[in-house]
Amino acid sequence: GIKMDNFEPSVQWSDLKLNSDGMVPVIVQDYKTNDVLMLAYMNEEAFNTTINIGKMTYYSRSRQELWIKGMTSGHIQYVKSLTADCDYDTLLARVSQIGAACHTGNRTCFFNEIIKKEYVEKNPLKVFETVYNVIADRKEHPREGSYTNYLFDKGIDKILKKCGEECTEIVIAAKNPDPEEIKYEISDFLYHVMVLMVEKGVTWEEITAELSQR
Ligand code: AMP
Ligand code: ZN
Ligand code: ZN
Ligand code: ZN
Repeated sequence: GIKMDNFEPSVQWSDLKLNSDGMVPVIVQDYKTNDVLMLAYMNEEAFNTTINIGKMTYYSRSRQELWIKGMTSGHIQYVKSLTADCDYDTLLARVSQIGAACHTGNRTCFFNEIIKKEYVEKNPLKVFETVYNVIADRKEHPREGSYTNYLFDKGIDKILKKCGEECTEIVIAAKNPDPEEIKYEISDFLYHVMVLMVEKGVTWEEITAELSQR
């Protein structure tokens, strides 16, 4: 990541094209998942404060005040990069988001779907991230009748027992001549491992980093 101290930004406030309110919109993106988290506005003070403290700072149009994101909620956004677009009228911030970006408690503000066509994810491995995020969300916002919440409620020993069982089922399925069986069992196993990962606070990023440096 960038080092905020003695970091001399090449784009300054005076280089930016302001909207009619004298502000610049900022698209905020999760630096790990690339999810778009929110959109907010900066004035000059917010822009300079963001650069100085390394935490996303906006101008709240509703409250008409400088707004260090997360000051009341704790849902701070640490700046990983800040980039101006081609014509200098929009900023893109890639951030490390603590908790939820949205004041509703949702990780991203963008959940009110208007068009949603079916498509196949280009990177099949992304499903690990998606499922992991759903599991993490269940832990934070429990749902009635959720099997994942049932596991979290029962605790670590139950999760470990399930991991062991599912692992054994892979072994049995591998001996089974039906080739479908092993897919289900490996999927079951991976799901329960992800529940364990969330319970223990281990991320896919940490696992892939470990694997890639072996
Ligand atoms: P926070 O900066 O997270 O401590 O939130 C302070 C206040 O800012 C909240 O009570 C909301 O009114 C507002 N707020 C926080 N996050 C958002 C957001 N993503 N979009 C719009 N308003 C927000
Ligand atoms: Zn362009
Ligand atoms: Zn533009
Ligand atoms: Zn929101």
